[in-house]
Amino acid sequence: MYIYDLDFQEIKVRLSSWGESEYRADQLWRGLYQNLFSQPDEFTNLPAATRNRLDMEMDWLSLGVIRELTSSDRKTTKTLFSLNDGNLIETVLMRYDRRNTVCISTQAGCAMGCVFCATGQMGYKRNLTRGEIVYQVIYTARQLLRENKKLSNVVLMGMGEPFHNYENSLSAIDTLNDPDGFNMGARRFTISTVGIVPMIKRFADEKRQVNLAISLHAVDDGARTRMMPVNKRWSITEVLDACRYYTDKTGRRISFEWALIEGVNDTTEVAARLAEMLKVLLCHVNAIPLNPTSGFSGSPASAERATLFKSILENAGITCTIRARRGIDIHAGCGQLAGTVI
Ligand code: SAH
Ligand code: SF4
Repeated sequence: MYIYDLDFQEIKVRLSSWGESEYRADQLWRGLYQNLFSQPDEFTNLPAATRNRLDMEMDWLSLGVIRELTSSDRKTTKTLFSLNDGNLIETVLMRYDRRNTVCISTQAGCAMGCVFCATGQMGYKRNLTRGEIVYQVIYTARQLLRENKKLSNVVLMGMGEPFHNYENSLSAIDTLNDPDGFNMGARRFTISTVGIVPMIKRFADEKRQVNLAISLHAVDDGARTRMMPVNKRWSITEVLDACRYYTDKTGRRISFEWALIEGVNDTTEVAARLAEMLKVLLCHVNAIPLNPTSGFSGSPASAERATLFKSILENAGITCTIRARRGIDIHAGCGQLAGTVI
């Protein structure tokens, strides 16, 4: 059993079945999530016999680092991990002036097949377990600690569709939330979804403080279906209705993601229609010029187009950020993660 797959209750049950006192579970939990220990040896407050048993009976090494790449500006680091069944996933650390964000994967591959996304182009392999999701964050927090930095945000925007792996994605966040453990507040997390309507509703009903982002990318169903096959199942109207349900239920703002593709969804007409569609919602738009992937021939919108797009939205009262493309030289940008050894 992978140590990071266990929640606190499960650790308690496991240790008590070994005849350990209850406070040993607290010590183990704090060692894992406060001290960020990576192997049983480091838990010097535990008896040698317990450390030995933790070593023999628990798995500490499910995620192995295959390769680490840092962009030429030193700000972005991408880690390629191998899972214990040989599947590969990627995690991206982005260092900003005032914060450090990690972008984590929730699946090996993705079943949603968005044509502009390298993960979609590779197809679906499997869901990640809670521990495989949690560990990407712990690994990155350790990496930052060595640089005297702290992790400030976690975005579930790496490989995979988090709402297609709802239980494990959310329970990983719960583990990392724990004030007696890693203690990362819910508001520091953002989940991005392609628009799986029943899960957006479920998420709204759970009234979590976690931020929600929706990948929209088009204003009409024909265009969206061509880019994102999931749109056949849930149309733009259905997705926006679910978003409305979310903002009504939680009072929280929603973000829309928009990959600006030259001549496809970066025109003034599209911007005006988008503004019209979104003006009734408590929302923000995050637009990013398309990142190149081998399986898609579209080009990124120019800086001028991006600025114009933003100004049309803002004139209609919708805030919009044009995100800088990052880590492109190491294929670490949005939609570029494919878990391949390049
Ligand atoms: N599966 C989730 C989260 C992972 S993708 C989702 O799709 O929302 C993270 C973001 O990157 C999404 O908004 C996605 O639409 C966007 N994206 C995918 N491919 C891209 C590309 N080539 N260029 C820019 N953004 C891309
Ligand atoms: Fe999957 Fe998101 Fe890529 Fe679409 S954009 S294929 S949902 S990872």
